Amino acid sequence: MEKPKLIINGKRLDGRDFEELRPIKIQVDVLKRADGSCYLEMGKNKIIAAVYGPREVHPRHLQDPSKAVIRYRYNMAPFSVEERKKPGPDRRSIEISKVSREALEPVIMKELFPRSGIDVFVEVLQADAGTRTACLNAASVALIDAGVMMKGIITSVAVAKVDGHIVLDPMKEEDFYGEADLPVAFLIRNDKIESIALLQMDGKMSVDEVKEGIKLAKKGAMQIYKLQREAIMKKYMEDEEKEEV
Ligand code: ADP
Repeated sequence: MEKPKLIINGKRLDGRDFEELRPIKIQVDVLKRADGSCYLEMGKNKIIAAVYGPREVHPRHLQDPSKAVIRYRYNMAPFSVEERKKPGPDRRSIEISKVSREALEPVIMKELFPRSGIDVFVEVLQADAGTRTACLNAASVALIDAGVMMKGIITSVAVAKVDGHIVLDPMKEEDFYGEADLPVAFLIRNDKIESIALLQMDGKMSVDEVKEGIKLAKKGAMQIYKLQREAIMKKYMEDEEKEEV
């Protein structure tokens, strides 16, 4: 199929400016059986994250006597994409699970939970590019909801090069037809971006464009971070109100 024009009159196909995020919705504590959970929408992406633990690890030989073992499972529902996706893990979801776990591990205070396990499940109910970033945002909130001690929060967003422009939070058409896609996750501590926890890229960008992209991703991440915080605060305010009654 021929590549469509992705930028028309200085606007993107969905009407956004280059530096604009898709609408985001975050809801905390949506699953009763999980220790922590989050439902998150980022544009047309719809994600559920569930956290179980800290709890005993099975099988036992996987236990670590000095710290908690973190497991992260990213899964795309068969109905999440236009053409039905074959159910179950594939190379892509195994890779996304691995890099996402590695992004979260440094923020979790694993040493506080020796021999235990923390399981993070993220399910993509609807996908529209940027699912790994949306899942990380949801997983971070669900971890906090579960009461897991954290050194900060992980906030993630992608940037892309589209018709020669660096844009924030690409949607499917931009991801598919654009020149490059660069998902980033940041560790945010005390309201400041402290470090990069994940950085991937496919396609081609100059070194300067990558620098510009990371700068833009930082701006986007701070906006997402605010929404993550607000969602968590809202839930705790509600809990307190309930206790007062
Ligand atoms: P991300 O979702 O993190 O951007 P990719 O760049 O691999 O990851 O995928 C981009 C988008 O392509 C996904 O969000 C989804 O909309 C679509 N996609 C990925 N895998 C499949 C698949 N197996 N079948 C159909 N669409 C897919």
